[in-house]
Amino acid sequence: MTTCPLTREDAQTRDAQDPMSRFRERFYLKPDTLYMDGNSLGLLSRDSEAAVLQALENWKTLGIDGWLQADPPWFWLGEELGKRQAALVGAEDDEVVVTGSITVNLHALVATLYTPTPERRGILATALDFPSDVYALQAHIRHTGGDPERDLLLAPSSDGRTIDEDVLIEMLDQRVALASLPSVLYRSGQLLDMERITRIARERDIIIGWDCAHSAGVIPHRFSEWGADFGVWCTYKYMNSGPGAVGALYLNRRHFGRTPALPGWWGYAKERQFDMLHQFEHAPSAGGWQISTIGVLSAAPLIGSLAILNEAGIDNVRTRSQELTTYLIACMEDQGLTGADYGYTIGSPVDAERRGGHVAVEHPAAPQIVRALKARGVVPDFRPPNVIRLAPVPLYVSYTDVWDTVQHLRDIVDSGEYRTLAGSRELVS
Ligand SMILES: *Cc1c(COP(=O)(O)O)cnc(C)c1O
Repeated sequence: MTTCPLTREDAQTRDAQDPMSRFRERFYLKPDTLYMDGNSLGLLSRDSEAAVLQALENWKTLGIDGWLQADPPWFWLGEELGKRQAALVGAEDDEVVVTGSITVNLHALVATLYTPTPERRGILATALDFPSDVYALQAHIRHTGGDPERDLLLAPSSDGRTIDEDVLIEMLDQRVALASLPSVLYRSGQLLDMERITRIARERDIIIGWDCAHSAGVIPHRFSEWGADFGVWCTYKYMNSGPGAVGALYLNRRHFGRTPALPGWWGYAKERQFDMLHQFEHAPSAGGWQISTIGVLSAAPLIGSLAILNEAGIDNVRTRSQELTTYLIACMEDQGLTGADYGYTIGSPVDAERRGGHVAVEHPAAPQIVRALKARGVVPDFRPPNVIRLAPVPLYVSYTDVWDTVQHLRDIVDSGEYRTLAGSRELVS
């Protein structure tokens, strides 16, 4: 894998030689800024900008006719954009639809697929889950007469960073009706073995779904082959489709015959949606789990970002991502930043196969260091209590950017400049 080019010149050579470097110029990068926060909000590409302008033009010139005459027609936009990203998650075309957001889609799918019985009412998640997912799971337990304290089982973490998969698998027992797990833990970047966990859950008759917020667009998935029941993800992180862009869901076709528990007219069988009947008839596809009218202007960026991702190929994206994160860690170690003098710790798995697209760098003064980085034009993010997340997004971050970021991490400690900065986090970080 990566041999570490430990000079800036080596990093530049590597950028010049990597064919994946060509995608960088398709994105808007702020001058004099090292953007390492694409795992929170991906950057705008020229392709996505053009797609939004096209959607506005269609609205301007077509008005209501855009539903059928825009390219692609807005009426089927969710289905069409689902199809265009089916390969990214290893699904069949009609198993993915662009709709809602992670939390809304999780609600819609868990409401449908979680059918507790007195013996089997548990939902398995992890102690390190993103809070919104936990709120949703607790609510479904309450709504079905359960007790979240008893029925929401959280696979523990012994180090506060990672989940021991063997412990998690042991918890997939007869009490559990449904497992809803993160593909990549949002703080440490640990990538769970989705294939293995899915297989075991299925063997034990447990419905299993994945929150792929931190893997969609940066890691390949093979949902259909693995047999996962459902998946949810957003498109504003590694999929670069803009703040609040419309999200996506995957539903394995074995569930198409179920009745959506949170129905809405946008999930109606498309040919008859405008019959306006009060008898609900859902589309026999993932599209049946849509609820409301698609936000065309916040789905349009996907037309551009999916064109880029499909052109790059998700396997190439993953390879470059692993090389960039490996390089980041190697440079930090080589320059002594992970020793006692500097006090940084790598909180992500050391094995690139078990790591998502970002590196969690820990430091006791993380909030101040994040402020110092921002003052120097480096954009990381901060997750309490001590994690600086750095995401070298493979489509637009270069080896040289990574090398430069490491120098800033070193200089900030050498100069002590972070000590004078506030230790509180910003409202959004
Ligand atoms: C970003 C993120 C979310 C965000 O959820 P929305 O409903 O799209 O706002 C949910 N889960 C995880 C793991 C995330 O990283």
